[in-house]
Amino acid sequence: MVHETVPKVELHCHLIGTLNAPLLREIDLAGERILVRPENVQPVGFGEGPQGFADWLVRVEPYKSAGWRDYLPVLEAHMERLVQQGVVYAEMMISPMMFARDTGALVEEFAEFQERVRSRERGVLQVEFLFLVPRSLPDEFIDKDIARCIALAKTGGICGISIAGLERDCPASRFERMFGVLKDHGLGIEIHAGELGGPEEIFEALDVGRADRIGHGVAAFRDERLVERLCTENVHIEFCPTSNLKMGAARDIASHPIGLARDLNMNFSINTDDPGSFDCTMNSEFALIESEFGFGKVDFQAVARNSLAARFQRNLRYDIQIPENFQAGAVEAILV
Ligand SMILES: [Zn+2]
Repeated sequence: MVHETVPKVELHCHLIGTLNAPLLREIDLAGERILVRPENVQPVGFGEGPQGFADWLVRVEPYKSAGWRDYLPVLEAHMERLVQQGVVYAEMMISPMMFARDTGALVEEFAEFQERVRSRERGVLQVEFLFLVPRSLPDEFIDKDIARCIALAKTGGICGISIAGLERDCPASRFERMFGVLKDHGLGIEIHAGELGGPEEIFEALDVGRADRIGHGVAAFRDERLVERLCTENVHIEFCPTSNLKMGAARDIASHPIGLARDLNMNFSINTDDPGSFDCTMNSEFALIESEFGFGKVDFQAVARNSLAARFQRNLRYDIQIPENFQAGAVEAILV
């Protein structure tokens, strides 16, 4: 398939969402600790919607409060999968709860975490992190999270933050001060908007949140003015097709706006969101888009270039190029 000839960049993936039975089995077989039995982690099915995802989160409950040491084998197994799929750069959303509450201890733990991750990149994949802030975060925790994010921004631990959760119940405007302060510290702002909410949540993310990237953004295509603005301002949209289908953000793949976004020459990436819970991979997402919308090599190269340009970590540790002739499995050849 054509997509296999172009390197991939993933900007929207939650670490907890990578959990699935094969990955947990592999970790277990390697003698590392797992917190839930693989056979209990069935993915979300089509038609299950947000309740299906909520049920999935219950299945992986122990990982919601797990520390970074329990996540390392998960991340390492996931990174191996990314390399196999020709992913050369990935940004992952992780919970601040994985680390110590105390800021000094947080910085130390994060440095150790990052060192382990970098040792697994093997010169073929760069992995960066965003702290995930739930929309439902109580007010009293917002200031604490700001302080933690600033500490990690200064040490190069994280490159951005992401706001996710139920859009209608918790407007992004609650985080207005946080967005301003963190932006001033050089962090990128990603806001999940227009997934289950409407175009108004995307307007809010742009106007109040000063979002650099919009997660999902499917609802944007219900409002011509908004589509025009996204085009004019070259706002990056992180599309997650299978997630959109399973969560009910798109009725079926034919009605997903990614084909239109390509036709309008918009700036977007193709992502898994939660490859474990939605039972998809970067390869399967790209294959889906290729077969449904006829994306060709030029389209995928544009996706790769736009995705890489929309990254929050400006410093690349490797010389990542999007070459004309790329062979999956030979990423070493293009990374120096
Ligand atoms: Zn997401």
